[in-house]
Amino acid sequence: MINQDTSPQMSTAFITGVTGQDGAYLAALLLDKGYTVIGLKPRRSIGSDSLARLDWLGITDRITLVDGDLIDLASLIRILQDYQPDEVYNLGAQSYVGSSWQQPLLTGQVTGIGAVNVLEAIRLVRPDARFYQASTSEMYGMIQEPEQSETTPFYPRSPYACAKLYAHSMTVNYRESFEMYACSGILFNHESPLRGLEFVTRKVTDGAARIAEGLQKNLRLGNIDAKRDWGHAEDYVRAMWMMLQMEQPDDFVIATGVTTTVRDMCQLAFDHVGLNADDHIVIDPEFFRPAEVEVLLGNPGKARDELGWEPKISLKQMIEQMVDADLVRIRQGRE
Ligand code: NDP
Ligand code: GDP
Repeated sequence: MINQDTSPQMSTAFITGVTGQDGAYLAALLLDKGYTVIGLKPRRSIGSDSLARLDWLGITDRITLVDGDLIDLASLIRILQDYQPDEVYNLGAQSYVGSSWQQPLLTGQVTGIGAVNVLEAIRLVRPDARFYQASTSEMYGMIQEPEQSETTPFYPRSPYACAKLYAHSMTVNYRESFEMYACSGILFNHESPLRGLEFVTRKVTDGAARIAEGLQKNLRLGNIDAKRDWGHAEDYVRAMWMMLQMEQPDDFVIATGVTTTVRDMCQLAFDHVGLNADDHIVIDPEFFRPAEVEVLLGNPGKARDELGWEPKISLKQMIEQMVDADLVRIRQGRE
């Protein structure tokens, strides 16, 4: 069990994916703890928009953003040489399952090989740095046990999950081959007001808010019988940091231990604006997937016992927070 109040002695953390949902919350957490935070910023044509999440949390100016890309090993080597980080969090990825069938090669390069590029850069330049890999419950895919734990066999069901499984296996392999401090967090779905609009929770909270504001009538969804174990990103980034404070590196499932259908999650959002989800949801086969992960349910026992980690925010609280944030955005004319 680790002391959650431990303050590092002027530690430096390097985060890939710092402009994403988890990267933004993790950066905020580490800044609070006194870290110097270096963030990887791949070049995008709309530069300022990609900082929207860091801006939302009011931390953009407190982070050193460095140009580079997960598929450019040289850029990662240069950054490690320049900043000598103590902790490296690899959160960067093509992270959307739905797109991974359209872009399987890019997903493989960024989400799979990208992680190995980070591991190689650490091995070459900063072998004592502690490494966190953002693994995923999607690796369980066609579930082999009703509750998935660290020992449950994997059965990936999408190009995204296959790429993540490669990255996960390489993280374990680098730990065993080179004695690197490398950990994998097998995180179940986690959401927040900073979640991308393509993911089902945010699509639903944004949709419910728009319908409540009279801007649209219906919400088109795919398989609403799918079940997910949803937690809050703020709780989950705390677990990432806790993993890197252990004496020995290890892998942990991070989950709530509760699974809910997309249908019931929708009703939580619509209830919050006084509407009935059934009156507004339209099933559209366009959103069905070539291979579906029907149900995920994590067993967070090891994280609870060994890290002392527990989630603090319930699904209902989170969905209500997300609807409220979407109402604010819509009223301000923002995305
Ligand atoms: P996001 O999609 O919000 O963020 C992904 C980040 O990766 C963005 O900052 C993105 O930058 C960056 N990125 C994309 N391509 C590259 C590239 N070629 N080089 C460098 N950076 C790149 O994901 P989340 O924050 O939700 O998730 C964080 C990590 O955790 C991801 O690896 C995800 O797969 C994994 N994960 C997430 C779960 C969840 O439920 N949220 C569950 C389990 C695992 P830009 O925005 O500029 O494209
Ligand atoms: P995932 O678990 O990483 O794929 O997260 P998502 O939020 O993208 O999807 C969660 C579940 O919701 C999956 O089983 C999807 O098939 C299901 N789902 C149903 N309708 C939709 C939809 O319109 N968009 C998305 N993204 N998922 C949907």
